[in-house]
Amino acid sequence: MLIVLICTITLFVPALGSDAPCHNIGGTCQDDHLHCSGSYHTGLCSGGTHRRCCSHSSAAGTDSGMCSHVKVYSRASWGARAPKHVTTMHTPASLFFVHHTEGNFCHDFASCATQMRGIQNYHMDSRGWSDIGYSFLVGEDGAVYEGRGWHHVGAHTQGYNSRGFAASVMGSFMHRKPNDAALNAIKNLIQCGIDHGYITSGYSLYGHRDVGSTDCPGDALYSEIRTWPHYSTHHP
Ligand SMILES: [Zn+2]
Repeated sequence: MLIVLICTITLFVPALGSDAPCHNIGGTCQDDHLHCSGSYHTGLCSGGTHRRCCSHSSAAGTDSGMCSHVKVYSRASWGARAPKHVTTMHTPASLFFVHHTEGNFCHDFASCATQMRGIQNYHMDSRGWSDIGYSFLVGEDGAVYEGRGWHHVGAHTQGYNSRGFAASVMGSFMHRKPNDAALNAIKNLIQCGIDHGYITSGYSLYGHRDVGSTDCPGDALYSEIRTWPHYSTHHP
């Protein structure tokens, strides 16, 4: 009897345990339309592709902490509200757009996090969007702030949101470009996206004004990104 019981348990656990990889990192498997105050991880849960592992643990490398050459502050760290709804982004994407917020500059975590909360409130409450529009934002503290992130379609570049990611530098860059810390943060964020399969290695880089009637990302920042290797003059 005892042997049978042990065998039953031994066989039973793996069958039940297809969510075990998620549980092993302290996460919970849930539909990724639900808010996760930590980070979602793919491939750790049973069920459909929308069922993913929500975890605060750094054991598996959180999405926001996975970039080795740039600090990425997670949504939780800057105090993001939950999105009203999300649409899963199909990756890798081949387009990357650079914007500026035309709001205040920020040079430290406290002031950048305040900017993030204000921009999110504006996008959700005044613009009526489901969440802060950009995929990522960048401060002149040299850090990246997670917006919709790598997994969700943004609202940043009309007509191209499902095909590309966007980073917006906080401030107005008509008359001066962002400091080197912010420019390097954009470059390292893109490289991180390539390293993790979210962006194609042959991606094309654009300024918002290349595909829309706007002066975004400002004359000075636009002139800067036009010198970068992946900047494309071909309409996407
Ligand atoms: Zn823009």
